[in-house]
Amino acid sequence: MALIVQKFGGSSVKDRDRIFNVARIVANTHNAGNDVVVVVSAQGDTTDDLIAKAAEITHNPSAREMDMLLAAGEEISIALLAMALNELGCHATSLTGWQAGFRTDRAYTKARITKLETERISSELERNRVVVVAGFQGLNKLDDITTLGRGGSDTSAVAIAAALHADRCQIFTDVEGVYTADPRKVRNTRKLDEITFDEMLELASLGAQVLNNRSVELAKKYNVELEVLSSLNPVPGTVVKEVVKDVEGMLIKGVAKDTDVAVITILNVPDEPGTSFKIFGLLAQKNINVDIILQSTGRDGKKDISFTCAESEAETALRVLRESAKFDQVICDETCAKVSIVGAGMQSHSGVASKMFEALSNSNINIKMISTSEIKISCIIDREDADKAVSAIHDMLFE
Ligand code: ASP
Ligand code: MG
Repeated sequence: MALIVQKFGGSSVKDRDRIFNVARIVANTHNAGNDVVVVVSAQGDTTDDLIAKAAEITHNPSAREMDMLLAAGEEISIALLAMALNELGCHATSLTGWQAGFRTDRAYTKARITKLETERISSELERNRVVVVAGFQGLNKLDDITTLGRGGSDTSAVAIAAALHADRCQIFTDVEGVYTADPRKVRNTRKLDEITFDEMLELASLGAQVLNNRSVELAKKYNVELEVLSSLNPVPGTVVKEVVKDVEGMLIKGVAKDTDVAVITILNVPDEPGTSFKIFGLLAQKNINVDIILQSTGRDGKKDISFTCAESEAETALRVLRESAKFDQVICDETCAKVSIVGAGMQSHSGVASKMFEALSNSNINIKMISTSEIKISCIIDREDADKAVSAIHDMLFE
């Protein structure tokens, strides 16, 4: 007998049929002799709908009230799923995040889990009940409901698996696993059998959208192996873990893009100590998240510095640089994208970068910036070229 945590996303519980589909998966797992804790998200687009409802009332809702509102979505799902399980003769108890013992910090709408008190979940399991827990929510020190940020149910599931030392943590979704690129947009993509936490983290932050970033961080920290699989099609999914088998030829695990990128360049800044500190210190004060930084070699005591940030933050960045830092030559290229290849195998192999550049060159796509890490190579390009670039790179590396 094993303890299994199963998480189902919003699309997997979006209506009556899907709820019963999930209930059958859970009941089968329980009937096979396992203890099961289920984590569910709000049904379908419920969270977006609730956000829209708030916007009908005010453009500036209090974060506390937003959390009160959004937590309701998951509470509907847990009750309905527990009812469906009971219908199938599988005894289930639904628990809100706070009933399940999730304690968080005070940061409404993006709270972090500080503690998970597992007594209630454990006592329900001892009574041989399936426990259905509301994802995405917890309680802070003020006894107020908090939520964990969009996509936070994955993190709830991983936290439960870590705290209970579960044997397995299965993340069910509407795709069959993690692919080498978005299968809806790129031809000949492959489903990966396995991927490391680090590779998954890179792909998650690049918008691969199968797993929430924080959940992967947490899984890595507590070494919780994750299995990403489809709730609609019972085929093996993708396992995310610390070390994976070195499959021949699988140097690269995926090609991803991030289309929310702006490049800001400050021309003719003094080529002297303290210049970068002045620029990035000011940006940090405004909480602007800077990604790639590039600096030209000095000439006549001057140099140029470029960096990327999210398009939504570009305006604030420009204002800070022009008004507070008094730089007069600041330009912004707002419509950029970042395409990246990710794979732990590239650490020990050469020639991967040149293949990527060759693919872009063949497609006549200009590279504006390049950045590399041990397991990732990223290029900044024009946003309108992003899809074409991903396909070209994928063809080059996976054909
Ligand atoms: N319902 C929340 C959201 O849509 C949490 C989740 O789905 O994981 O972001
Ligand atoms: Mg959702």
